[in-house]
Amino acid sequence: MKISIITVFPELYEKFLSTSLIARAIEEKRVAFNIVRLSDMCIAKERIDEPTCGPGVGMIIKPLVLEKAIDTCEQKWGSGFKIFFSPQGKRLDQSVLKNVASTLGVKKTSVSVSDDTKDSVQKNNNANSHVILVCPRYEGIDARLEEHYADLVLSIGDYVLMGGDLPAQVFLESFLRLIPKIVGKQDSVEQDSFSGPFLDYPSYGLPKVWKEKNVPEILLSGDHGKIDTWRKEQACKKTVLKRFDWFAQSKPDNDAIALAKKYIPAHYVVVMHSQIVIKGGRVGESSIASLDIHDIARASATYGIKNYFIVSGLEDQHKILKTFLGFWHSEAGAKYNKSRYDAVALVRPKFSLQEVRDAIKAQENGQEPLIIATSAQQHGNAPVIDYSCQSQVWEKQRPVVFVFGTGQGLSDGVLDQSDFILTPVNGLTNYNHLSVRSAVSIILDRWLGLHPKGVGKNLEK
Ligand code: SAM
Repeated sequence: MKISIITVFPELYEKFLSTSLIARAIEEKRVAFNIVRLSDMCIAKERIDEPTCGPGVGMIIKPLVLEKAIDTCEQKWGSGFKIFFSPQGKRLDQSVLKNVASTLGVKKTSVSVSDDTKDSVQKNNNANSHVILVCPRYEGIDARLEEHYADLVLSIGDYVLMGGDLPAQVFLESFLRLIPKIVGKQDSVEQDSFSGPFLDYPSYGLPKVWKEKNVPEILLSGDHGKIDTWRKEQACKKTVLKRFDWFAQSKPDNDAIALAKKYIPAHYVVVMHSQIVIKGGRVGESSIASLDIHDIARASATYGIKNYFIVSGLEDQHKILKTFLGFWHSEAGAKYNKSRYDAVALVRPKFSLQEVRDAIKAQENGQEPLIIATSAQQHGNAPVIDYSCQSQVWEKQRPVVFVFGTGQGLSDGVLDQSDFILTPVNGLTNYNHLSVRSAVSIILDRWLGLHPKGVGKNLEK
């Protein structure tokens, strides 16, 4: 692998390239570097930058200087894959790195070939690949340069640094680990966080006791099978409780999903037709719509909701509900549409929110559920959470209930009982009147849905 770096400050790379694994990779000829100083591309006394056109402060790197730098790199090592660094670029993550690696011909070595073969495979498969890293400074570069040259523009996060050199070094530290043999044990790279659906497992070393904290007994047992299982479970638990967003985007297989479910508390949905605000701002009742029963039951089945409670304080509404459920809970219903029958089986009619709480408590070994109220407006006294707050809720290890209102929303009486209030679902308009079944689907998808990322090649600028 040949890597050119175009920079204002080559000295920033001196220690970086002469230390640890990168230094060894250079020595073993697995990678070679060519550092180009931008000021060397200028004629005497010429500046590398110039003021931006139009009003405003800031200096940007000139097109002709960067053009010459890129030409110099390509004259030395041939055409290169050009990566520019910018806070406005694609966010660097493990899947972007893997895509860059595959574009540049880095192949994972098969474990079945001998070490020597692996070595030659890796030397041949990427030896001629040339990457050019462009590290602007000041206000950045002339916009036309990125448009013309960049194969990929990378950001290392949503913050602004003084220059592209640290991003380039972050890229190199993460990218070079993917080239076989640069990191001693390739297996450890493949078990790292973000290589699969789970983060890495927790590691411990001696002493056995430190500050009254013990190394888990299982790790000292010598039983490799049990240790593997324990590590996998710990990795899964940590991922679910700390980084569910990662799990949800990582395309987990069925085994990983089954394991993850062990650490996700039971979730329930309640739709209130009682204790809600109705026309005129009064607290009252609304009627139950059959479409809501079907659709919310189907959403509940999709996202693994344990029960969908329908709360009405009116006997008449319960009678209608009973007739409806009578069909869907019968053999005739199962015969008519089995998947609808399965979904509607989750429905439980109740007369009040207190009855729902009691039913969940009875079902969950006496554990009080956590109530998450949903509202189209922001009010109530409970802490407001957003759709990335699973850790905050799940770490309490209690069943979770999402409470949805009908009519004009949940009454203060319900909001005051809640442990959390979820931020409203909003679009780009001021229209704020989703049907309850739409709100349930959107919220369940944001909270419990899988959102695979990095499915396509994903290397566009
Ligand atoms: N005015 C630019 C903006 O707001 O998008 C920021 C320019 S920044 C001061 C100078 C250079 O530092 C950028 O052109 C880029 O190369 C690099 N840089 C700064 N923050 C970065 C980040 N988060 N990721 C990648 N590169 C970054």
